[in-house]
Amino acid sequence: MKKRHMYTALALSLIAGRSGAQELHKCASDEMHAHYTKANPKVTEAENELNKSIEAFLAAKMPMAGIAARTTADGGHHDTDYYDIPVVVHVIHAYGAENVKDSNIYAMIASMNKFYNKQNDLSGIIAPFRPYIGNAKIRFHLATIDPDGRPTTGITRRLSYLTNGGDDQAKMDLWSPRNYYNIWIENKIGMTPAAGTTLAYSTFPSSAEAFPYTDGVITGYSYINDGNTMEHETGHFFNLMHTWATSGAGVGASCGDDLVDDTPPTKGHFSTCNLWDTACATNYYKLYPSISGTLDSLVNYPDTTNTQNVMDYSSCPHNMLSIGQVWRMRATLNSTIGGRNNLWDTANLRMTGALAPRPDLPPITDYISRVAASTAIAKFTFPGVPLFFANKSWRDTIVSSTWSYTNSANTPMVSQTSIAAYNTAFPVSFADPGWVTLTMAVTGNNSGTTTTAYNKAVFVADQEGINPLATPYVEEFDATGKRDKWPFFNYYNNEFRWEQANVGMYDNSCMMYRGYDSRTAPANFTGTPQGDYDDLFSTVYDLSAYTPGKCNLFFNYAGASRSALTTEINDSLYIDYSVNKTHSWVPLAAMGKAELCNRGAIATEFVPTSASDWATKSIAIPEAARKSYVVFRFRYKPGVNTTTLRSTGNNFYLDRVSVSPWAVEVNDVAMGNVAVRIQPNPAHGDAWVVVKDAFATTASVTVTDIAGRVVYRTTEALSGNGARIKIPTETIATPGVYLVQTISGSQVNTQKLVVQ
Ligand SMILES: [Zn+2]
Repeated sequence: MKKRHMYTALALSLIAGRSGAQELHKCASDEMHAHYTKANPKVTEAENELNKSIEAFLAAKMPMAGIAARTTADGGHHDTDYYDIPVVVHVIHAYGAENVKDSNIYAMIASMNKFYNKQNDLSGIIAPFRPYIGNAKIRFHLATIDPDGRPTTGITRRLSYLTNGGDDQAKMDLWSPRNYYNIWIENKIGMTPAAGTTLAYSTFPSSAEAFPYTDGVITGYSYINDGNTMEHETGHFFNLMHTWATSGAGVGASCGDDLVDDTPPTKGHFSTCNLWDTACATNYYKLYPSISGTLDSLVNYPDTTNTQNVMDYSSCPHNMLSIGQVWRMRATLNSTIGGRNNLWDTANLRMTGALAPRPDLPPITDYISRVAASTAIAKFTFPGVPLFFANKSWRDTIVSSTWSYTNSANTPMVSQTSIAAYNTAFPVSFADPGWVTLTMAVTGNNSGTTTTAYNKAVFVADQEGINPLATPYVEEFDATGKRDKWPFFNYYNNEFRWEQANVGMYDNSCMMYRGYDSRTAPANFTGTPQGDYDDLFSTVYDLSAYTPGKCNLFFNYAGASRSALTTEINDSLYIDYSVNKTHSWVPLAAMGKAELCNRGAIATEFVPTSASDWATKSIAIPEAARKSYVVFRFRYKPGVNTTTLRSTGNNFYLDRVSVSPWAVEVNDVAMGNVAVRIQPNPAHGDAWVVVKDAFATTASVTVTDIAGRVVYRTTEALSGNGARIKIPTETIATPGVYLVQTISGSQVNTQKLVVQ
């Protein structure tokens, strides 16, 4: 979506305009609202309707006592009800600090409750505004019943790379926004270089009307306990504007208002607590019609701005809501726009369990495994080389945990007990190659033990490598090969991943990277692959016997792009290698769009249907990789359209991987007394081997591709000097280089055939 760039650009221009240190852009709610408004006219319609219903609500609630109602310290509302709001908090994380503890979330809710019930520290509010401090009487409750009717603590967690600025795309696991106030916590807002300069943003009720699946607040984790950010964003959620918002400009630019009378016009303040600022507020008053309509009444509001208002950007230690803001929120809570009136409905409170005490639920097991001194998830290792595991279980205070590891024969390998400390990493190494199952039993301090088995938690490579010089080896990814020793990992558990496919170059098996984006926009517009990566590891090779210039990694591949615009195709395949059982991966080759998409643009899901869909890749293996223990890693990074954030690539297929001494250039072998010629060469269709041998009566022709696989073999009678032996087109359908070996009598001839 455009919004990311749009609001970042705005944030940057604001920062640039201030010609000084970079300021934190507190909130991108206005920029996001502008984006939503542009994207769908329904937002403006909803906004107009909401404003009308606010007017009607205020008129009904303050019919006779306009002035008093607008200036009485307790809000003047005869409306004394409390509004109870069910909340769900979704933590979108990659196991970093953004994976905040439950206790941080409880503290966040407690802080919001204090603020929205006028129980925060208001002692520093300057005198002119003390009469205008409002009490919203809104209470927030983490839900105790989830949308499926199951008990919950009102917190969900999801592992995702989108924690790094995924924003609307990171708003996964939405619970119906008409039933729950959804709050997402991510690492930081915004994927661009300006990431981190925006703290959070909220939807307004009107944009929620058109884009319900984005409805709620998303915030960087650093700000959830600052006593201000969530209070500010929640104001937007209930339709409060920035105090300068009608200026149509950014904070500090020009005088504006917020459709609330008792917050005087202001330019807003950028991280400064300028308590006395009269620039827009001098001689500020409002005239209200009197009860009888014959005489207007004048209310002389403060002649300085309400810098301490929570909807300013100022960094004041004390923050307030005004009475007028409270009225605006309560009016919004009585409107159907954005479904805000349904949140506090009695039936909804019962359905979401909002008023019930938080249940004691058994812990949810969770962990991360990684290479030492790295934060990235790792699940592939070498025999005897440890991975570091850390306990990330939650929903209860963990008092003990047991970790047991079994190999593919279900034989216990390693057992660790009493790893209680949250996040303390401990090393585990494995002797047996193959898949490891981790069984984790976690005991909470008051509600029992949860045991979870994680199949394929780790893959341990073989002890020794295969030498293809001694044992010819082409990996076809079929059941007869070694595909079980080619592990692949979908680290973030999404639809973009390596998987085995039932198509192939010559058979019905290969590896596929599922890059085709099946998400339908805009109905389910979260979870962009931007930022994702997935790994396929090779089996272990012993390349020590290869000689310089005669060691090449070969494979066939078939790929396409979803988009016809080459400028927006950004898929990449990175091939790295590791030697000597180390976790340091060395770049060998990178394939970009020009190579990967050999079949061009295909709008539908790409599946290769004939051998001609496949291309060949050969990569010279350098001396540093010609060791006795070598593993290759194929890391696929799907690209996206930067506007829609949908994948622009398509499925990518990898087949027939081998290491071969044949370089692409093969020298013709000199003949003895036999003349052999291939024609046409280059070929496109059938090719012919013409044999002139005065002595032999038969000749054998063997055609292999550059990976060493035999694609055609025949023995035929030589009918005279200059006999022709056909190489059928279907056997050499894939463009590339083939080796044609002709044996007649005792003479062996090998020539290169180029197929175009
Ligand atoms: Zn804001």
